[in-house]
Amino acid sequence: MHKSGPVCNFGFWEDGQWIWDVKLRRRLFDWEVDQFEAFSSLLNSMMLVASNADKVVWSFESSGKFSSKSFSYEVENMNYHGNPLLSSIWKFKVPPKARLLCWQVLSGKLPTRALLSRIGVISENHHECPLCKGNVETIDHLFVHCKISLSIWWALVEGWGCMWVIPRSITDLFVWWKDMAKVIKCKEVWFMAFFSVLWHIWEARNKAVFSEKEVTSSQIIDLVKFRTGGWIKAFFPACSYSLLDFFVNIFSISVCFGDVCKVKRPSQWCPPEDGSLKFNVDGSAKGKPGLAGIGGLLRNSEGVVVALFSMPVGIMDSNVAEVLAIKEASKMLNKKVEFNSVKIVIESDSLNAVSWTHTPIKRPWRFLPYFQEVDIFLSSCSSHSIVHVHRECNSDADKLAKDGVHRTSPLTIWKD
Ligand SMILES: [Zn+2]
Repeated sequence: MHKSGPVCNFGFWEDGQWIWDVKLRRRLFDWEVDQFEAFSSLLNSMMLVASNADKVVWSFESSGKFSSKSFSYEVENMNYHGNPLLSSIWKFKVPPKARLLCWQVLSGKLPTRALLSRIGVISENHHECPLCKGNVETIDHLFVHCKISLSIWWALVEGWGCMWVIPRSITDLFVWWKDMAKVIKCKEVWFMAFFSVLWHIWEARNKAVFSEKEVTSSQIIDLVKFRTGGWIKAFFPACSYSLLDFFVNIFSISVCFGDVCKVKRPSQWCPPEDGSLKFNVDGSAKGKPGLAGIGGLLRNSEGVVVALFSMPVGIMDSNVAEVLAIKEASKMLNKKVEFNSVKIVIESDSLNAVSWTHTPIKRPWRFLPYFQEVDIFLSSCSSHSIVHVHRECNSDADKLAKDGVHRTSPLTIWKD
């Protein structure tokens, strides 16, 4: 039988009735006869109508159009004989599209380059992984062993404080992930993160293939944190924390549904008084001087994150990085006219940097340009201040500063 061709090559019309005529290239083996008969009777059970134009119809949706929601609904209600792992995918609280992708990944039904070259759609010379360009793009390579993907999994597994051995396959990883859920404080966040990693690896891969855009693993990790937060908020509307909270504290979230939504706060950090804001900032340098980053987060009296930044600042010593962190926070606040009359305190754990903000005469001359924004911040309102805090009260800002060292581009976000 010819393997491909339009329907009209496999039959003809006779008195307004379609007659199937599938010609075989060779005689059937005995074991194929039953199969072919079953196939013929399936074909003959279809009534074709000559007056109607051909179209593709998805019969599980009244509109006739494919949707991943109806697909996952059908698969969920089919009894998945034989593979409990695959059928378990449909029970997770994540959007249907994400479940569908996970199902395609775990059942080996994703059109990776290895698959496309095996079935002859692309040549064998083009089967390399679009992310690392070093290996054949199989599902297990793309989602587990590719250096980009591996560093994403490492970051998450370490963030949650788990020990792991690099799994052989994505299926092994999923089995391990399900197992570990028993010891994770908030398993909803843990599972959503898994689906979200698959989602963003596939998205990064498609960007690399179709628009030749390169995405780094740290950019994907950022996206995974936001995506996970977004899904949690969609599935658990009682969750009162902002997406930025998920970004800063995803590994410490302990409950995300019901009446309570708890993010573990660093114990020594205290929120500002009602109606005011607090901006914790920090600078971090890997050496004296060395590669440096700055970070900070603005929170309200409920501890909700209102804004954050995390960025690389080049090679310098930590004193300069600390000043730059205060400067960046001032710059962000100065841009918001509505904050001119709000009580705001910037907290830094650098005694030097804080004392320089108060005593212009002591400022090292080479840092002078950095203080312009700081002076504007302090002079625009009498209830604006910059104070020193102990390192233990500044741990979230410290994380963002350390993250900033390795970023390829600056990250600044305001809530909503
Ligand atoms: Zn790769």
